[in-house]
Amino acid sequence: MDDRTKVSRRVFFRGAATIAGAALAAGVIPIRAAQAQQKLAKDIMKYQGTPKDGQKCDDCQYFQAPKSCSLVAGDISPQGWCTAYNKKKS
Ligand code: SF4
Repeated sequence: MDDRTKVSRRVFFRGAATIAGAALAAGVIPIRAAQAQQKLAKDIMKYQGTPKDGQKCDDCQYFQAPKSCSLVAGDISPQGWCTAYNKKKS
């Protein structure tokens, strides 16, 4: 790799970082949408539509009525369950 290639890469990455920062600052990249896409897939979390050993989504701190979860993607039944179950604090 010659010096010209090294400089070109440095300039490219510096430019890319500047563009990404400017896009975030300008709100071009919606942060909430990016976060929403970070939910986990049901199969990864071994989600099931029925309770397990008396544990169910309706009692989990991550459940968002009527049919969502802050961790797992898709429609979530209040009667469902997954491996991330964490009982609501009362
Ligand atoms: S048990 Fe799993 S799917 Fe159900 S609310 Fe809790 S984290 Fe979400």
